[in-house]
Amino acid sequence: MIFKTAAEMATSLANKEVSSVELTQSHLDRITAVDGDVKAFLHVDKEGALAQAAAVDANRAAGKSLSPLAGIPLALKDVLAQKGVPTTAGSKILQGWKPPYDSTVVSKLKDAGVVILGKTNMDEFAMGSSTENSGYGPTFNPWDLTRTPGGSSGGSAAAVSAFEAPLAIGSDTGGSIRQPAALTGIVGVRPTYGAVSRFGLIAYSSSLDQAGPFGRTVLDTAMLHEIIAGHDVKDATSINASVPSVVAAAKSGDVKGMKIGVIKQLQGEGYQKGVQTRFTESLDLLASLGAEIVEVDCPSFEFALAAYYLIAPSECSSNLARFDAMRYGLRTGDEGGASAEAVMAATRDAGFGREVKRRIILGTYALSSGYYDAYYGSAQKIRTLIIEDYKKAFAAADVLVSPTAPTTAYKIGEKVDDPMAMYLGDVATIPVNLAGICGMSLPAGLADEDNLPVGFQIMAPAMQDQRLYQAGAALEAALSSKWGGTLITKAPALKGGAN
Ligand code: GLN
Repeated sequence: MIFKTAAEMATSLANKEVSSVELTQSHLDRITAVDGDVKAFLHVDKEGALAQAAAVDANRAAGKSLSPLAGIPLALKDVLAQKGVPTTAGSKILQGWKPPYDSTVVSKLKDAGVVILGKTNMDEFAMGSSTENSGYGPTFNPWDLTRTPGGSSGGSAAAVSAFEAPLAIGSDTGGSIRQPAALTGIVGVRPTYGAVSRFGLIAYSSSLDQAGPFGRTVLDTAMLHEIIAGHDVKDATSINASVPSVVAAAKSGDVKGMKIGVIKQLQGEGYQKGVQTRFTESLDLLASLGAEIVEVDCPSFEFALAAYYLIAPSECSSNLARFDAMRYGLRTGDEGGASAEAVMAATRDAGFGREVKRRIILGTYALSSGYYDAYYGSAQKIRTLIIEDYKKAFAAADVLVSPTAPTTAYKIGEKVDDPMAMYLGDVATIPVNLAGICGMSLPAGLADEDNLPVGFQIMAPAMQDQRLYQAGAALEAALSSKWGGTLITKAPALKGGAN
């Protein structure tokens, strides 16, 4: 059962071939079998999950009308507040914090009867691309346990890829859903900014952060997307509009006559050969399905990475000021009548990791008087230029495409001491966040040189998320008929069952 898609599991639940308690228990067993190796979870909420599952089974037995994903298990990135369940954002500074409330995403999941198995590992405060910046140790890529699963939502992506959960939630500030999806051979979507409520999503960079779905297929991902999206009065940046019909789009999957724009700046030099080969092949498949492929020029994308690594640290230096040893989690150094400032400094020194400190310092510098215009102000101007580039490109094409990441999964430890090399991995995903639009990564096959998954990225204008699913479903269907099944069915076997 655990090797099926969420849509198939939902059908089996509806037909009463299996109960949610059984399905949940099977996933908990899988976690016990493989998570010692993968380390996707920071916290497994066995009792909570089984209780949620039993409640769904009771409602089903009573003949109540249920949401399509009722009773399906899910892994939740530890950046989202869940009432009474440890929530750390991958940071030691939040160790021991149990939120007194649910984030809106969690409330929506609970209302839909989705069973939350536990909280997944992540780069501390979502700052990173490999999950190695977690305060609790790295997560390992199920395709090759010596490699990273990408990040920052590496725990969520690895959980889905290792069949520990059919679905997961991540968050994407600069690529943290799409890039780990690419590196673990699954589907991940960063919805339009404002489409999913940020209430209860621990803030990294508020103008860029957005939670979104992971699944093993485009349809599964769409089903989860529809559950978590929607207007929320508790989030001032939430868009007051109806949720695009992404499930219908994922079911139609037609690209005949669709104009697909290949971004000139997001390919070629710096992209691994096998990544480029799978990307070109996917383009040919889309063309054979009747799509029209055009090339588009986005000259300002050259500056996207530099702008992002000023804006995101600037916003984080402000957002992380709330971790002051008074309100949440860790508190050290308050023996012997130490001043509030001394306790704050000692707690932050002990609680924040190196990358978080680096970014707070960078952001504080970029925002300081005398430097503000030169750094933060210039970065905001680049952001406007990127929005303009997208506008022109979307006038010529319905969706835009690129490889999701320039390389396949790299070795644990390979880039962790070289932040610049790590930042370069975000080159293709960051422009989406700067412009507030939406993007998907779906598996495009394995790179010839290392047999590791390659991601294909699709981008669409704000609130046109259904276009991602329409094009994604078409490509997914074409690729699976070529391979005789979806990519993930070919994932290397882990201990505890062949996949
Ligand atoms: N890797 C990027 C960063 O380190 C993006 C992270 C994210 O999307 N949360 O900021």
